[in-house]
Amino acid sequence: MDAIDCDVIIIGSGMAGLRAAISAVETGPRLRVCVVTKVVGPRSHSISAEGGMAGVLYPEVTGDSYEAHAYDTVKGGDYLVDQDAALILAREAPSEILYLERIGVPWTRDSDGRIAQRLFGGMSRPRTAFVGDKTGFYIMSALYRRARSLPIEFYEEHLVTKILVVRGRFMGVTALNLRKGELVLFRGRAGIVASGGGGRLFRLTTMGYLNTGEVWGFALRAGIALKDMEFVQWHPTALVPSGILITEAARGEGGYLVNKLGERFMKNYAPQKMELAPRDIVSRAILTECKEGRGFTHEESGMCYVGLDLRHLGEDVLKKRLPQLVELVKTYTGLDPLVDLIPVAPAVHYFMGGIHTDAMGRVLNSDGEWVIGLWAAGEAASVSVHGANRLGSNSLAECAVWGRLTGVEAAKYALEAPQLSAIDLDARALYNEEEERIFNRLLHKEVGGVSIGQVRSLVQEALHRGAGVFRDGRVIGESMAMVSRAIELIGQVNVHDVGKVYNMELKELIELEGALPVAQAILIGAYYRLESRGSHYRVDYPNRDDSRWLVHTITYRYGDGVSVTWSPVRITKWRPEIRVY
Ligand SMILES: Cc1cc2nc3c(=O)[nH]c(=O)nc-3n(C[C@H](O)[C@H](O)[C@H](O)COP(=O)(O)OP(=O)(O)OC[C@H]3O[C@@H](n4cnc5c(N)ncnc54)[C@H](O)[C@@H]3O)c2cc1C
Repeated sequence: MDAIDCDVIIIGSGMAGLRAAISAVETGPRLRVCVVTKVVGPRSHSISAEGGMAGVLYPEVTGDSYEAHAYDTVKGGDYLVDQDAALILAREAPSEILYLERIGVPWTRDSDGRIAQRLFGGMSRPRTAFVGDKTGFYIMSALYRRARSLPIEFYEEHLVTKILVVRGRFMGVTALNLRKGELVLFRGRAGIVASGGGGRLFRLTTMGYLNTGEVWGFALRAGIALKDMEFVQWHPTALVPSGILITEAARGEGGYLVNKLGERFMKNYAPQKMELAPRDIVSRAILTECKEGRGFTHEESGMCYVGLDLRHLGEDVLKKRLPQLVELVKTYTGLDPLVDLIPVAPAVHYFMGGIHTDAMGRVLNSDGEWVIGLWAAGEAASVSVHGANRLGSNSLAECAVWGRLTGVEAAKYALEAPQLSAIDLDARALYNEEEERIFNRLLHKEVGGVSIGQVRSLVQEALHRGAGVFRDGRVIGESMAMVSRAIELIGQVNVHDVGKVYNMELKELIELEGALPVAQAILIGAYYRLESRGSHYRVDYPNRDDSRWLVHTITYRYGDGVSVTWSPVRITKWRPEIRVY
């Protein structure tokens, strides 16, 4: 058995994971900080972030303030935001933007030489810093370069298969070394989960193929709770039919949405903010236009869409501010945004929910107790800063703020935590169990006849129907039954490739099998929440109900299934109000 002893283990090398690794090693330069990631570092999904990162940079010039950023975030999240977390985000994000500049991010400048800031949906002021529309690429390049210059150990192409928690304490992870096909035990005193979102659980998503969501399932199995999983963000403007993101920055720069009658229909849904209303509102508006017959129909796919009109912005703006968008549209549709409308429709884009944490990113179980030694950051975590709907550009800010914060806290903890030898036997026993599960039960099995694709399509269909933009209790119930069927079928999936090196079939099976309880958690949360709030819109309960549902949904493993409870929202400053734009 290969066993690697680390002080801090970080699952994931996206923006949150890299930021955490850098701050952990800077806090404890002698600590052994290990990043375990299933891709080659910077290929993580963060690299495709486009529009920018929120943070109030020049309050004295713009009249903006941290309070305004936090308030916009709380209102945008339909008051399900923990307000102490929103204030941390607003206060810490500016210094993270400046930190990124110091390590090499070439933020776009305005004519006065200041870092330029653009408007994003639901924001009362332009406060999003950006590098054209390739922000994630520049941030990830700078973070990876910086991380590689420090004594951080990278274990790339290592698929984490299990989180080891014994008697309420984090002990490490097991990971499949994809290059060799061997299971590795990583023992650690502290851990940070930064494994990103799970868009690939759905049929149409803007997320990359690595965002399969299994680490959330491993968390459930380890006794960790998930929070607010029913809040799935559908981004209003994904390219039709591929689902590739067309950044909100396009509307931030002045783009219009039009229906087939040529009307800027957002005037009927959000007369003040128009195209820059929060994403949940714009997505519902687009699908309402479709339902009522005012959308276009895509010939090949039959998908309904509306038009994004950027023609009036002119060549200069498109070239300087949105060059990647122009390239993507031309490559994937053959259309020219200077001449044509861009066909767009909603697609799954972000998970407001994730691993249940407190405002410091400490991972909690369903009783609200800290899983000792474990933190979570980035999209994998739910520190409750986005509530029921995330505002665009707040996610990169969150990755940086809680990446740094959890890195510091985990390092401080590891400096004082007990030596690893004390936990050795338990870790070895868990490793043996996992080895048996992967190589004897998943890779070689007697029964079979079902393909990975069949099970995946069943789950994607279930979530598409049950956890879409518009939801209905009866349909969610049917989707739950479909996921139960998928759980039965997964035991009958055969892996045809029994080789060790880069066994992608085995990898996909581990990912899908791991993510099935996550599909359950999303649907259970959606089923029980009898109201409409943010991205969760129930046609059978169309109103927000603060008297009963101003609470977080907590899902956790119970027997072989997933159960649910609720916990209060932390309201420290702003009382919930009606949310109009
Ligand atoms: C197309 C697109 C554009 C976006 N643009 C913006 C934007 O402009 N501004 C903004 O604020 N937000 C944006 N977002 C959201 C934002 O990019 C993401 O929420 C954020 O980048 C997530 O970063 P992360 O570090 O949490 O996870 P990721 O970058 O997704 O990284 C996850 C990491 O976890 C690892 N991992 C996962 N599972 C395993 C496993 N089993 N074993 C080992 N490793 C594992 C992966 O290898 C990867 O390294 C965008 C999202 C999309 C989809």
